[in-house]
Amino acid sequence: MPASLTDAKSADLFARARRVLPGGVNSPVRAMRSIGRDPLFVERASGAELVDVDGNRFVDWVCSWGPLIHGHAHPDILRAVEEAAVAGTTFGAPTGLEVELAEEIVKRVPSVEMVRMTSSGTEASMSAIRLARAATGREVVVKFAGAYHGHVDGLLADAGSGLATQGIPASAGVLESAARATVVVPWNDRAAVDAALARGDVAAVICEPIPANMGLVPADDGFLAHLRSATVDAGALLIFDEVITGFRVAPGGAQDLLGIVPDLTVMGKVIGGGLPAAAFGGSRELMERLAPVGDVYQAGTLSGNPLAVAAGLASLRMLDDAAYARLRATTRSLADGLRDAAKGRPVHVVEGNGLLTVFFRDAPVRTYDDARDCDHDAFADWCRALLARGVYAPPSQYEAWFVSLAHDDDHVARTVDAAAAAFEAAG
Ligand SMILES: *Cc1c(COP(=O)(O)O)cnc(C)c1O
Repeated sequence: MPASLTDAKSADLFARARRVLPGGVNSPVRAMRSIGRDPLFVERASGAELVDVDGNRFVDWVCSWGPLIHGHAHPDILRAVEEAAVAGTTFGAPTGLEVELAEEIVKRVPSVEMVRMTSSGTEASMSAIRLARAATGREVVVKFAGAYHGHVDGLLADAGSGLATQGIPASAGVLESAARATVVVPWNDRAAVDAALARGDVAAVICEPIPANMGLVPADDGFLAHLRSATVDAGALLIFDEVITGFRVAPGGAQDLLGIVPDLTVMGKVIGGGLPAAAFGGSRELMERLAPVGDVYQAGTLSGNPLAVAAGLASLRMLDDAAYARLRATTRSLADGLRDAAKGRPVHVVEGNGLLTVFFRDAPVRTYDDARDCDHDAFADWCRALLARGVYAPPSQYEAWFVSLAHDDDHVARTVDAAAAAFEAAG
């Protein structure tokens, strides 16, 4: 969108930002380059609505990319953070609150008996992989094309040539040796997984049990069960990255919803309640390989930070069965409304509990190649048209919309109206 007179403040901020921050942002997707516009500079937000520095108001379906399951500035979370802050913001020593949060996580997540907290999902998946390598004495990690597990060097890998071969760096600066320890296979492809596991040197298979970083692409029936049995047979661990799905799709995450129990689980986003917190967990036996009990080093100055833990606890404690039912209902009516708004256009709305993607493709999306095959230009036009009508949806075909408990029928109705108008405008 060209900077207009009314958008003078964001234009000015963006000009200043580009001088001191690469691309003007601290994380690439915020730049909105894939839909061909400038970033949105936020002034404030509350509930499901966000206001930019120029006073434009948006229904927010990004919700900070997942953490804000209760919407922005929920009073209970703010109160918890305030109370924690007054008692001191960080100690580098244990507190009662982090024990309570760990107990809450263990109670909810079927496979988790113990957790270790970190400040970001990237750290948590990096550490879970280190632990898996230590536990198996093997080096290779199998990941799926299009999956994102944070910007861990070895996971920024693309498929090499040939089936189940070593990965190649997907980013400048990633060592070839780091990428070579990753095998990248297509999602929903059992034969490719089997071929990778047949190498005999696989420490772990890591996946999002409901992938949401190539858009929302659920597993085909039986695929996760196959991953579970095939990893057991191969002596490899199964790591579920539930940074998005954890505490969102069900009280105990996707593993709770789908009944597949991984060896290690990576968590983030919702468990921080909007502050920086993440974690990984698993059986006592595996987790006690971590220092100071075991031989796998892992640490963090701000790990288990009291403010983040207080926000996470307050967030989890409000997530009862009624909350999940409401989140599901809101997601359902948004998905149905968007399908109606599309009026037979070649789009494909995929929904999960609290998640949704509008793929600009006629045929269903089962793999990353399918997601790449979408009409990204049409998506970009539609997304900019939505923003112009006060709806902030994730500005990339590879992201999911994040539904929150702050979104109500009115937000859904306004969004569906804007979506219909945006489809008209985008042609
Ligand atoms: C966001 C995300 C991460 C990385 O978490 P950060 O806190 O951004 O480092 C890892 N895995 C998945 C599935 C994610 O969506």
